[in-house]
Amino acid sequence: MAFTKKPWAEPYRIKVVEPLKTTTREHRREAIKKAGWNTFLLHAKDVYIDLLTDSGTNAMSDMQWSRMMIGDEAYAGSSSFYKLEEVCRKYYGYKYIVPTHQGRGAENLLSKCAIRPGQYVAGNMYFTTTREHQEIAGGIFVDVIIDEAHNSFSDHPFKGNVDLEKFERLIAEKGGDNIAYITIGAPVNMAGGQPVSMENMKAVSELAHRHGIKVVLDATRNIENAYFIQQREAGYAHKSVEDINREFCSYSDAATVSAKKDLYVNIGGLVMCNDEELYDDLRSLVVVYEGMPTYGGLAGRDMEAMAQGLIEAVQDDMIASRVRQVEYFGNLLHQAGIPIVTPIGGHGVFLDAKRFYPHIPQDQFPAQKLAGDLFVESGVRGMERGIVSAGRNKQTGDHYYPELELVRLTVPRRVYTQAHFDVAAYYIIEMYRNRDNARGLRMVYEPKFLRFFQARFEEL
Ligand SMILES: *Cc1c(COP(=O)(O)O)cnc(C)c1O
Repeated sequence: MAFTKKPWAEPYRIKVVEPLKTTTREHRREAIKKAGWNTFLLHAKDVYIDLLTDSGTNAMSDMQWSRMMIGDEAYAGSSSFYKLEEVCRKYYGYKYIVPTHQGRGAENLLSKCAIRPGQYVAGNMYFTTTREHQEIAGGIFVDVIIDEAHNSFSDHPFKGNVDLEKFERLIAEKGGDNIAYITIGAPVNMAGGQPVSMENMKAVSELAHRHGIKVVLDATRNIENAYFIQQREAGYAHKSVEDINREFCSYSDAATVSAKKDLYVNIGGLVMCNDEELYDDLRSLVVVYEGMPTYGGLAGRDMEAMAQGLIEAVQDDMIASRVRQVEYFGNLLHQAGIPIVTPIGGHGVFLDAKRFYPHIPQDQFPAQKLAGDLFVESGVRGMERGIVSAGRNKQTGDHYYPELELVRLTVPRRVYTQAHFDVAAYYIIEMYRNRDNARGLRMVYEPKFLRFFQARFEEL
């Protein structure tokens, strides 16, 4: 084999292993029926390669495990908190740090503190839990991402960018005072893990601040974004991911983080800001929903693991191996002609269900079905990111019909080897050959909030 570019390898070796179990197709067929064709409702023991999410499914390092032994479990003033605070200040650059039990805990606090009911919240595409909390706090979400983001095969290198004209139009229509803030997610999870450029972030920040609008970063996957900037944006090739990440954060006023992603832990979250008044509000609300501001719903050992995880996460070779493993998997599928979102994103590969199952109309949930079929055929578990995840418009009660109807195959960090992705790709390619017989679904149970987690379906 000839190499077209220098290959990568994991900057670690394996010390502990967890055996995997395989099951029969008949067993999985029964299991998906029992789960109402919702991969969230499967029992994990029935799954072979679990690509449902990269959230909290990370493998921790020996250093993280050893730090957990020295966690300070004091109810107030835990030294593990002060360690976490110091590391977050160093690598993200914000002044005030409040831990939360996970990302949505941070989103709840921030939305409640920063949104007046009836205000608009702009964002570069919605994220499920983020928008839910914004709406519960009385906000009205407006998507201002560039049009390319909604196109699964545009090759724009920064498909997560904000369309500055759309944002400007919103400001002109509603007035700066009626816009609570703009949320920037980077990379954009729902668009397939597509990054935001430094240039765009800087421009958004200038425009927002000129009109007195705050910029809130969903910094959950920020380190992946910094890696893409290093690889793709002029002027950043020789800067470290650590420096790029800090610069990116410097254009924002506050951030929420799900530590279950970038930070290589199984649980944890953060809300961070520079403004003292906002910090006071966050600090008084955190005790209602999470716990004291020095633990925020976490054990001391969890905060130790987060602090060590962040130190590891900003290392160039660590983030490179993470993103390049995703790229390896994506390339296997892309080269076999499977319709996926391109460019390949930072945290997973997204199958385009509209092109995979073009004969299934969107209101028969093609991505939901494709995720179920993939599980039945292979034991690989992914998740729907299409009409089910998009939910309903709270005013009209109609489904949102997103352009993108995707199955997300998310890559947990430091967990699977290339060989696992060879096997997953093999099954997907086989399924694509036999795709004409697939039938759609109908929804038979719909929960009120974040329906994708618990909705149930039957095959048509
Ligand atoms: C996972 C995620 C969240 C929510 O975090 P949880 O820890 O699952 O509550 C928010 N934003 C993004 C971009 C995420 O990926």
